[in-house]
Amino acid sequence: MRGMKHQMRAEYGGNGVAGGVRLWHVVRGEESVAMCGRELAADARVREAVDWGKTAELCCHTCGAYFLREAPYLADEHR
Ligand SMILES: [Zn+2]
Repeated sequence: MRGMKHQMRAEYGGNGVAGGVRLWHVVRGEESVAMCGRELAADARVREAVDWGKTAELCCHTCGAYFLREAPYLADEHR
């Protein structure tokens, strides 16, 4: 079910992309609003959701909680 696919999307600090990723959030599909409600740049870097918790940068705790709640769907996405 393509519509349910999740992605990680980057939040940047005050220096934008040049300053590096400050925090990783989770978005549904191609959305630019994170599951925690934070608006992220539409052109911000994305990663596969399977990388959640494996990045050098921090991950948003609120997004993480939502993300895990939807984990049954994720099992289907990455089979
Ligand atoms: Zn978040």
